[in-house]
Amino acid sequence: MKIQLLTILIPVYNESDCLQILYERLQLLSEKLSCAVQILFVNDGSTDDTLLKIKEFQEKDNRITFVDLSRNYGKEIALSAGIDYTKGDALVIIDADLQDPPELIPEMLLGIEEGYDDVYAQRTNRKGETWLKRFSSKVYYKWMEKLSDIPIQKDTGDFRMFSSRAISAIKQIQEKERNMKGLFSYIGLRKKVIYYERDARIAGSTKWNYWQLFQLAIKGLTSFSIIPLRIVSLIGSIVSFSAFVYLIKVLTKALLYGDEVAGYPSLMSTLLFVSGVILLALGVMGEYIGIIYKETKNRPLYFINEIG
Ligand code: UDP
Ligand code: MG
Repeated sequence: MKIQLLTILIPVYNESDCLQILYERLQLLSEKLSCAVQILFVNDGSTDDTLLKIKEFQEKDNRITFVDLSRNYGKEIALSAGIDYTKGDALVIIDADLQDPPELIPEMLLGIEEGYDDVYAQRTNRKGETWLKRFSSKVYYKWMEKLSDIPIQKDTGDFRMFSSRAISAIKQIQEKERNMKGLFSYIGLRKKVIYYERDARIAGSTKWNYWQLFQLAIKGLTSFSIIPLRIVSLIGSIVSFSAFVYLIKVLTKALLYGDEVAGYPSLMSTLLFVSGVILLALGVMGEYIGIIYKETKNRPLYFINEIG
């Protein structure tokens, strides 16, 4: 199936330094493509001159469109906004910092034209990322894989191309609390992997800090699995069973040998341990209640300043 219009979706948050090179690379690329392109920037509340630069490009090049969000919402929401404004019958998501080489796009497009719905790029290395980041992401993916109900594509970012069928599937998802990577897996459909080497950022710095990554990780886990709830139920059952056995032991001892007051240390440690377990269980439940809270408020995902 021939693709007529390919939308290249780029979420941007303070990427002023990257834009010129990005635009040049995309221009080179589009000459090689057999279809028309829509370059769609989603400006995620940048505080630098990112939007200004985009508008300058737009004056010279009418393939450029943009959605200017009302504030910074984070990449997940920026992507959702972009997907809503996609005109193409195929869509590719790419970061502004050129960590994902646009030169892979023709190969991805071939995949879509062959009939795949989701061609995703899996990195074989991670240049320019710290040891800690690589390690934590490895551990995270491993556990995500085990705990969640859906298969997760490991070492895969958001650099991927969708067919129109996949685009409309994603558009139907109504969730407010979103982990896009998880949702891309969730829709299923025919997936194809291509491998690539991820480059370091060309300019600027990463927008993620560890706290945000941690939150994203928790979000990913809780929106695709209720196993954490089961784990605390399990811990709860084990603890109450042991408490019951211990109770019998204490009672029998008291009945047989009389009751002497003893065991401040054991009392204290049991008390602390059990309250710890209760707090943990409450915390895990709280995570899920938090999600319910956000979903029931049913607020719009994002607001827009300007569309161009
Ligand atoms: N981004 C965004 N909103 C944010 C943070 C990031 O739209 O709140 C964009 C950013 O401009 C970039 C992409 O998401 O195009 C990936 O961000 P970054 O390179 O900082 O993440 P990393 O590559 O380190 O995972
Ligand atoms: Mg990056």
